[in-house]
Amino acid sequence: MTQHDLVVIGAGPGGYVAAIRAAQLGMNVACVEQEPDLGGTCLRVGCIPSKALLESSELYARATHDFGKLGIRIGELSLELDTLLQAKNRTVGTLTSGVAALLKKNKVRRYVGHGHFDEQGGITVESTDGPRQLAAKNIIIATGSQPAQLAGVVCDGRRIGTSTDALAYEQVPDHLVVIGAGYIGLELGTVWRRLGAKVTVLEYLDRILPGMDSELARDAYKIFCSQGMSFRLSCRVTGANASDSECHVHIEDGDSIACDRILVAVGRVPNTEGLGLDFAGVNTDGRGFVSVNRQLETTAQGIYAIGDVVGGAMLAHKAEEEGIACVEHMNGQHGHVNYDAIPGVVYTQPEVASVGKSEDQLKSEPVNYRKGTFPFLANGRARTIGQVEGYVKILADAETDRILGVHILGPHAGDLIAEAAVAIEFGASSEDLARCCHAHPTLAEAIKEASLDVANRAIHF
Ligand code: FAD
Ligand code: AMP
Repeated sequence: MTQHDLVVIGAGPGGYVAAIRAAQLGMNVACVEQEPDLGGTCLRVGCIPSKALLESSELYARATHDFGKLGIRIGELSLELDTLLQAKNRTVGTLTSGVAALLKKNKVRRYVGHGHFDEQGGITVESTDGPRQLAAKNIIIATGSQPAQLAGVVCDGRRIGTSTDALAYEQVPDHLVVIGAGYIGLELGTVWRRLGAKVTVLEYLDRILPGMDSELARDAYKIFCSQGMSFRLSCRVTGANASDSECHVHIEDGDSIACDRILVAVGRVPNTEGLGLDFAGVNTDGRGFVSVNRQLETTAQGIYAIGDVVGGAMLAHKAEEEGIACVEHMNGQHGHVNYDAIPGVVYTQPEVASVGKSEDQLKSEPVNYRKGTFPFLANGRARTIGQVEGYVKILADAETDRILGVHILGPHAGDLIAEAAVAIEFGASSEDLARCCHAHPTLAEAIKEASLDVANRAIHF
């Protein structure tokens, strides 16, 4: 039995960040990961590979459609999908080995194998050279999540698959049907549309991007349609079947759609199976997420849980914040996650990014708010890069002017939202943002102008 101060199960962005922070605070830390590569869903089959594909497919699309308009002639363009996928794999490889180096540097002991709670109240790691038992004063469950299955649609890993398969199709599909218009479905649909596939997105709800500000989602929808993506909203998929040469998706109204690939992107479920949670007295909620209190401690003392496995915003940076907060709490510090200041980004073109309350939420709350907006078509930098779609929307308390939510549809929205997250974290007012000097010409000036617009005094629109 090997004793540690802290054992972290799972080396995704939640787990590995928690392990490093704990080592910084002087704890003797172990991190158990069942995959040979570290970094979790995010680095291996999530954020990083999807963003690498979004970037290269965007370059391909711009070279195809836009370069000529700028007087840049590059002759006949062709796509080497193999090379594009290899470049993505190289990026993933560099980053996963970077995490291994970070754990080593911080003297975090790494165990490779499936970890679970055992009858003795410790942890057993099922490694290739037999089981190993670990004991620890504190344990963090950071086992993340996996793609949700859809009844009647069996993923065969060939024609019908999840996001993991869609990160590595060896051929551009002729017709890809994406089930689910959340950010994963839209991002991967965008990649394959840009590379030449016909893409149809089927969504159960009457809107895309559930949970995001509905005005932004509606305007993003119009733009995605104009880019050539097809949608069927209010459309419930009830089944699918595949043969060697094609597949069919069946819809509740009796219709069926023929295609050659199906991507099931209907959400993610927590990884708790085979963890032995009962041995440890760790409870889950009705949806299978591990139940935690404000300090991220589970129903068992000394056992914490963070990241996707506890639900909420299933995002890498939220997992990281929780990892740091719970380790600091364990060490008598005051780690805290401000769930009102966690940005969410959809890396389509244009990007969609939000932080704080959506306008829909504010409408349902007893709060008076004022709204300022500013379109990118009136922003000099947006003009110079030829990306003028979208706008910034700022929602501020009508009485105090405190910023309650910021929503951006537009170029580099995912980077721009950082300023808004800082403003919300610092309790800034729209007046504060409006009075900050923003460099010219930058996209960030649109944030300043939207802040000015909260008081009807935007200059450039
Ligand atoms: P994970 O990253 O899932 O890591 C959990 C780790 O635990 C895994 O490595 C797993 O192998 C390991 N594990 C599980 N059980 C055990 C066990 N019993 N023993 C040992 N090891 C175990 N988020 C963003 O913020 N931005 C994005 O752009 C973004 N893009 C995404 C794109 C895609 C296609 C997908 C699928 C996800 C994306 N996400 C994105 C979500 C993000 O990947 C997750 O929110 C994040 O990885 C959650 O981190 P985590 O540490 O909680 O869990
Ligand atoms: P997210 O949870 O953000 O990844 O988004 C998943 C999306 O899939 C949601 O918008 C769901 O409404 C959608 N969805 C879930 N089940 C179905 C279904 N049977 N048919 C079509 N869309 C679905």
